[in-house]
Amino acid sequence: MEELKLCPHCGEKPQVTGAKEKFAMHRCSPADCIVMVPFDAWQQRPIEDALHAEITSIKLEMAQMASDRDSERRWADHYNKLAQSAREKLSMIIAMLQELSPQLAREEIEKLARKELSNHD
Ligand SMILES: [Zn+2]
Repeated sequence: MEELKLCPHCGEKPQVTGAKEKFAMHRCSPADCIVMVPFDAWQQRPIEDALHAEITSIKLEMAQMASDRDSERRWADHYNKLAQSAREKLSMIIAMLQELSPQLAREEIEKLARKELSNHD
């Protein structure tokens, strides 16, 4: 069964009366007035429903944005690990080259340094 909605003014529950057609009957404390509304009309809250729909949509959008940020961070971590691995391998290769041919190693290091400088332009 559909949950009985609370009074939008005072937040209290109405009484439900009527045998054939149901009514919501309520004495609203701040206004001190009695309302008797057909049950289906009482249960309709178009503004609240629209706001709930908007809140749900905003929450979904925020969750998607958080997920995108996580994804970007994971890619950045992955890229940094690859770059670190490449630097370590290059250092090993240069060290091996220095043992085999110090002159060739010096030339390769100079080439890399020039390339590094041009990448920062
Ligand atoms: Zn009320």
